[in-house]
Amino acid sequence: MTTIAGPAAPIGSASDANGVGGPGDLAGAPVVGGPGLPQRRHLVTELPGPRSRELLARRDAAVARGVSIALPVFVTAAGGGILVDVDGNSLIDLGSGIAVTTVGNSAPRVVDNVIAQVQAFTHTCFMITPYEGYVAVCEQLARLTPGDHDKRSALFNSGAEAVENAVKIARIHTRRQAVIVFDHAYHGRTNLTMALTAKNHPYKNGFGPFAPEIYRVPLSYPFRDGLTGPEAAARAIGIIESQVGAANVAAVLIEPVQGEGGFVVPAEGFLPALADWSRANGAVFIADEVQTGFARTGAMFACEHEAVIPDLVATAKGMAGGLPLSAVTGRAEIMESAHPGGLGGTYGGNPLACAAALGAIETIERDGLVARARTIGERVLPRLRSVAERVPAIGEVRGRGAMLAVEIVDPGTGEPDAAATGRVARRCHEQGVVVLTCGTDGNVLRLLPPLAIGDDLLDDGIAVLTDALETLAP
Ligand code: PMP
Repeated sequence: MTTIAGPAAPIGSASDANGVGGPGDLAGAPVVGGPGLPQRRHLVTELPGPRSRELLARRDAAVARGVSIALPVFVTAAGGGILVDVDGNSLIDLGSGIAVTTVGNSAPRVVDNVIAQVQAFTHTCFMITPYEGYVAVCEQLARLTPGDHDKRSALFNSGAEAVENAVKIARIHTRRQAVIVFDHAYHGRTNLTMALTAKNHPYKNGFGPFAPEIYRVPLSYPFRDGLTGPEAAARAIGIIESQVGAANVAAVLIEPVQGEGGFVVPAEGFLPALADWSRANGAVFIADEVQTGFARTGAMFACEHEAVIPDLVATAKGMAGGLPLSAVTGRAEIMESAHPGGLGGTYGGNPLACAAALGAIETIERDGLVARARTIGERVLPRLRSVAERVPAIGEVRGRGAMLAVEIVDPGTGEPDAAATGRVARRCHEQGVVVLTCGTDGNVLRLLPPLAIGDDLLDDGIAVLTDALETLAP
């Protein structure tokens, strides 16, 4: 249930418990988030409210505009499926900070582990004097990632860093250079990962020159290409063989369900065919599971849906409950190709992030969140599909588990309609429901709810979204 009350008390009034003051003034903000927060949508101001607008002005004067914001409400606490802002509004979170807070914000096991770790020590640098948490995370990665072969892992900070290191490892292992990537791919914003990423604006435009030896081939995009998985794979492989040459390929790098590029689920058979081709041709098959990994798609890793066993897996986001941590995990013989000192970084596998990851993994397993992701998909997909029957602007509803999307098109031409997509997202935002958009053409609404969200809150959020989608009906 939503409550929409009158305007909040003015800033500085007696009830101004969360007053936004000068630099560094965070006093008075509610600091206890987690699942104990009331799990209901509740708006007391328009969005953004006055305190958020005040912080936005400070942000404009201090933060580079290149770091853009989807919904300018400043958060002060979060937990379960709720974000509380500085004006006292409670919003439904259907984005999980881009697929990060899979276990919910401030999940208890994450909080407990991090508190214990921060009191023990905060950093030594694993490459200087190691600690157990790093090793324990690598053991968990070996246990959880697809395949029961001998594995090794290396830990980093961001998804981009993991992908970049996976490419380094594939290159040194194969002594080859070419990297195959796909249309609509997103792999990050560093120099190498910009080159691996497909979409020019905003990710690449003006930021070149880009790294060489990256070759892009068509993805399987069933809604747009109508091909079966094997047909789409044959098309991609044909291009690789004729334009790159199999013997030059160090790695085939793919998101098993594409994230930023539009939540594209490849047709069945596409991923296995590429993995098989890679193995047959001595190329390393790298799954970028940064967004799909750790229960998001209703499997611990999205490759499992088609029993694909990647040589290397890049992970990040959902693995550490909101702390920055990423990893490359893979076949020991490939991982061990990199010489001592060739991998690493000052903060990679920071002790707090490792403690958080161990708490997040325990939560995923003990709370049955892989199954929860599946039930979220089963609950939400039929509702979205029933709206799609009435709204021709909905080109396709798709997704796996709790990684769900609605592709919006012009019903007359079938062309992507980014403007209508933006209108639906804004309508949701105004009602206090955080949905995200994605897609090379900006015409896909995506849902990534925390798996800790309750059914009532999820239903309320989806009702707001379906109402917003209905506005596109003729
Ligand atoms: N790969 C994929 C599939 C992603 O979704 C992302 C982030 N959206 C990245 C890589 C980059 O991760 P990060 O932003 O942590 O660098």
